[in-house]
Amino acid sequence: MATFIGNAEARKVSRVIIDAGHGGKDKGAHRGTVYEKDLALKVAFLVEKMLKQKGMPVTMTRRSDQFITLRGRADIANRYNNAIFISIHFNAHTGTRLNGVETYYHSELGKKLAAHVHLRMLSQLQPRNGNTRQRKDLGVLKATRCPAILVECGYISNANERKKCVTSDYHKKCAQAIVDGIWAYKTYN
Ligand SMILES: [Zn+2]
Repeated sequence: MATFIGNAEARKVSRVIIDAGHGGKDKGAHRGTVYEKDLALKVAFLVEKMLKQKGMPVTMTRRSDQFITLRGRADIANRYNNAIFISIHFNAHTGTRLNGVETYYHSELGKKLAAHVHLRMLSQLQPRNGNTRQRKDLGVLKATRCPAILVECGYISNANERKKCVTSDYHKKCAQAIVDGIWAYKTYN
């Protein structure tokens, strides 16, 4: 029945590609000794661990402080059928008051996944309210063929948020929210 096609499709998630943003010479955002590339990798490892505990196959685009092109990251995702792609980032802005969590998707394929993950990020982290946003300018999402999202876990340019962003408690909450969002997407959509 046509109405159930969407459900059946989403349930076929058989691998999660976890993409820790930046790496190597690409430091991402940084403030003092706090580097986005390091924080992203920490959250990525926790997501990997939690997904493996649930029996979900996982592929990491990087496992160390290594430079990978955006195209290279998408190519890894495009090797698999029924995969979903989660790119993990931390945000920064010259406006130091900006804070909170943002979740982006590029194609309509990623829209529901973004909504599920974002909802859990909001309930775990309780930042300012925010909606998922479609962005056509994110190269890493553009080149993936599977449902793909990019999660900005918080602003390291905001002094208060930066204090939280460097803690393992915050990393665990981000990872848990991402995993819960993936599971909700897989189960209910
Ligand atoms: Zn980034």
